[in-house]
Amino acid sequence: MRAPALLCALPAVLATACTAPLREEINWNRVDLARERTAIEAFQAHDQKLQDVGWKLVRGNAGICARTIPAVGLQLQDMASYGSPAIARRALGLARDFAVQTAAAESPAGQSGAFRPNREIAALSGTDPNQWEAGARFDWERLARAHDHVDAVLADRGALTVAFADGGEAALAPVPVCATRFELMGEGRRAVADGNRVVIGIRFPAFAYPEDMFAGVVAHELAHNLLGHSDWLDHHGRRQGNVRRAEREADRLMPWLLANAGYDPEAALRFMQEWGPRHSGGILRERSHDGWDERAEFIAAELPAIQALLEESGKADWSVHFRREIAPLPAASSEQGASAGG
Ligand SMILES: [Zn+2]
Repeated sequence: MRAPALLCALPAVLATACTAPLREEINWNRVDLARERTAIEAFQAHDQKLQDVGWKLVRGNAGICARTIPAVGLQLQDMASYGSPAIARRALGLARDFAVQTAAAESPAGQSGAFRPNREIAALSGTDPNQWEAGARFDWERLARAHDHVDAVLADRGALTVAFADGGEAALAPVPVCATRFELMGEGRRAVADGNRVVIGIRFPAFAYPEDMFAGVVAHELAHNLLGHSDWLDHHGRRQGNVRRAEREADRLMPWLLANAGYDPEAALRFMQEWGPRHSGGILRERSHDGWDERAEFIAAELPAIQALLEESGKADWSVHFRREIAPLPAASSEQGASAGG
């Protein structure tokens, strides 16, 4: 589930490291560093696409979602999370463990121009995460800790200063976004949401779709978080009918989230029409879900209201105008009208 820990599916060292016995000896003659770097860069390219789209969604809906945090759109990487930190470090030409992974397009980090991929990091607002202890490999916890640190600094001080190993420095001022992190998983075709994160497998087919259609599936997962589905299902039980209602809500909210992010809300419908017939046996079509054609109809039914709101006010305020099908838990979602039964 944790993104960086699951790089096993990547080719090269990251793959072999998954099955190789634990030992420190590396035969460098047998390591193709160019291939390692290419594998890491392929992972980063997918992550960039995910972070770009995720940023637009959480930024564009920030004025509507119940819980926002200050953010800068910066994603780090930690060599300790790779299957072989020493090889990853050498492949990227790093002396330390922390470096830039992605800076989301249109985010403060992206706009600064300072956060090119793999630029080595020496400190985050005075704290050097390279000094923190880490496991021998596949340690994703230290990276999560660094992201927690960034969030805490932004919340406490309203700014983040990044010192690079090359002597450069960049200061970032945050903007509010809906509180969800996006993580790329190094293997698998799944997309899941756990309340705080959206996690998407690198082999998820929609990565190959046009950006606005890919954004549809990210929006579906984000919708689960924004609507408090994880907590609600924990509380009420994951019976088939409950899951189906949550899934239907997530589908129906997709075009609203897309619209506020500047995407064509109809891309949600195009996603379902493209995805549904090909993957109806997959994760999005279980007995707990409506059929893909029904799901497309539910999405299409939202579009006129969204269009009217966009013309009227320039945004699609789902916190006021979206019809809930479940009664949200008080803590999970604020003041949203609920109509039980759906
Ligand atoms: Zn779902």
